[in-house]
Amino acid sequence: MVIAARVVLDGKGRILRDTRIVVEGSRIAAIDPMAAPVDYDLRGLTVLPGWIDAHVHLTWSFGEDGKNGGTGRTTQEAAYQSAANAWMTLLAGFTTVQNAGSPTTAPLRDAIAQGTLPGPRILTAIQPLSGQGERTGTPEEIRAYVREQKKAGADLIKIFASGGIPRASDPWEGGLTLSQDQLNAVCDEARKQQLRTMVHAYRDAVRAATVAGCTEVEHGLGATDDDLKAMAEHGTYFDPQAGLLIETYLLNRDRYAGTPFYPKTEAEFAGMEAILPRNYELLRRAIKTPGLKVIFGTDAVAGAHGRNAEEFIHRVVHAGVDPMAAMTSANSLAAEALGLANQIGSIAVGLQADIIGLDGDPLRDITAVRRVVFVMKGGVVYKNVAR
Ligand SMILES: [Zn+2]
Repeated sequence: MVIAARVVLDGKGRILRDTRIVVEGSRIAAIDPMAAPVDYDLRGLTVLPGWIDAHVHLTWSFGEDGKNGGTGRTTQEAAYQSAANAWMTLLAGFTTVQNAGSPTTAPLRDAIAQGTLPGPRILTAIQPLSGQGERTGTPEEIRAYVREQKKAGADLIKIFASGGIPRASDPWEGGLTLSQDQLNAVCDEARKQQLRTMVHAYRDAVRAATVAGCTEVEHGLGATDDDLKAMAEHGTYFDPQAGLLIETYLLNRDRYAGTPFYPKTEAEFAGMEAILPRNYELLRRAIKTPGLKVIFGTDAVAGAHGRNAEEFIHRVVHAGVDPMAAMTSANSLAAEALGLANQIGSIAVGLQADIIGLDGDPLRDITAVRRVVFVMKGGVVYKNVAR
C-alpha cells in the first residue's frame, strides 16, 4: 500500500517533504518518493504518526440517567459505551492510549488487539493502588499487590499518591497518601515485574514519586521548580494537563454535580475555572525545565472521549507550548514513555503503520488537530473522509 504525502511530520520533530510511505501488512516497509502506484493520495494533508494519549479513562461514561457514571460500571450499556469511547478516540486520530485503570478495560483492550472491535491500541492498569496512609499496606503487601496486577494482565500500575481532584478551595487536596517507603516498594516491584508506573501526584507527592523511581508523574499541580528539575534529572516523564479535563467538567457540570467526588451543585463548578491558569502556569514552567520530558495525556473522562485533541490547543494557545513539541509529546516522546518507541510514535521503517492526516497545518494553526480526516492503525484504514 502506497501513501503519497507532501508534508510528513515524522513524530520526532523532523519534516519530510514530497515522499511516499510504503505499508506492508501492519508495518511501514519503506519511505520512498518513487514508490508506485499510489493507493492513498494525502498530498493535501499534513501526515503524521497516530497520536498517543498517555492518560485516558476509556470505560468512564455517563450513566443511563445522564449523570456521571464513573469508570467501573458493568452494565451492558456501560460496556457498549466503553466500546464507543474507544471508537471515537480512534476516529479523533489517537491510535494508542494508556488507560489509567479499571478491571473492565482489559476485555476491551483484548478485543481491540484481536481485531474484533475498532479502537486504539490500549495499555491499561487493572486495579489502581489508592494511597490510604498506613492502611494501604506494608511494603511487602504492596509488592504482593503489584505481582497480582501482573498476573491479572496489567500493562502498568496506576498509583494515587495524593488526594483526588483539584478543587478551587483546596487545589492540591490533601498531602501525600503513601509514605516514601510505600512508594519505593510499589515502583521498585513494578520495575522488577517489568511494569511501568503512573502516579497521580500533587505537591510533595511529585518529589516522592520521582525519588521512588516511578515512570510517569500525572497532573503535578503544586510542583516547585526544584521538583521539575528533579524529574528531569531522574528521567521521570511528566504528564500535566492543561485544559481539556477542566473544560469537560465545566461543559458537563449538570452531569457531574452531586456524583461521587464532585461538587454537589452546578454553581460550585464555577470555581474550577480558577484551576485553568494554574495548569497553564505549571506547564509553562515545565517546558522551560531543561531535559524534562513532558508528554501528552488528557485524563479523558466522560464527555472528553473523541475530544482528546482539544488538549493540544490548550497547551499551545494558553501555555505557550511549541506546536511541533506538542506533536512530538504525543508521538515519539509518549511512545518512549510507554516503552513502545521501537513500535509506534514515528514515521519510520519497521514501525507500526499508525498514520493520520490532518486538513491543515498544525504548526501554523493548531486547530487543525480538530480536522483529522485520515486514520490508519496497524496498516488498516479506519477513516478516510473528504476534507
Ligand atoms: Zn486520571
